[in-house]
Amino acid sequence: MTTDGAALLRERGIQVTAQRLAVLRAVAGQPHITADAVAEIVRTEIGAISLQSVYDALGLLVSEGLIRRIQPSGSAARFEDRVGDNHHHLICRACGRVVDVDCATGSAPCLTAVDDRGYEIDEAEVAYWGRCPDCLEEARTTPPTDAKSNPRSNNRRARRSSRG
Ligand SMILES: [Zn+2]
Ligand SMILES: [Zn+2]
Repeated sequence: MTTDGAALLRERGIQVTAQRLAVLRAVAGQPHITADAVAEIVRTEIGAISLQSVYDALGLLVSEGLIRRIQPSGSAARFEDRVGDNHHHLICRACGRVVDVDCATGSAPCLTAVDDRGYEIDEAEVAYWGRCPDCLEEARTTPPTDAKSNPRSNNRRARRSSRG
């Protein structure tokens, strides 16, 4: 994304700060990033920043519509700068990898519920759960083993119990 982050912030009347710019850049550079990962990147860029400040910046950018927050069940919230197109997500149950997938039949038809029951709907979130190609491949090439009888994990346990 080549859009100027500072210009984006100014457009919405948001005060431009180094922290907000760094957070925006981190999300743009790594779609579906977690707040923890954003904090790590921002720290290497501009130095110390508290996790709370990262959350505050992310929250502001989400409420201003500059980034989108998705919350796959059982996973930390993730952030992306691809907004406004109602795209969906493929989520791997094994490794948690998230990838974008366009709306199944064109532009945001999922907003049209069969019966909206009086709700004014502004967003539909669709997540396809399964296993990513890498995890599928790994499952195919790794013969199923009983974790309890794995000699390597026995070794680790033995080493840890040698204290006193
Ligand atoms: Zn996977
Ligand atoms: Zn996405």
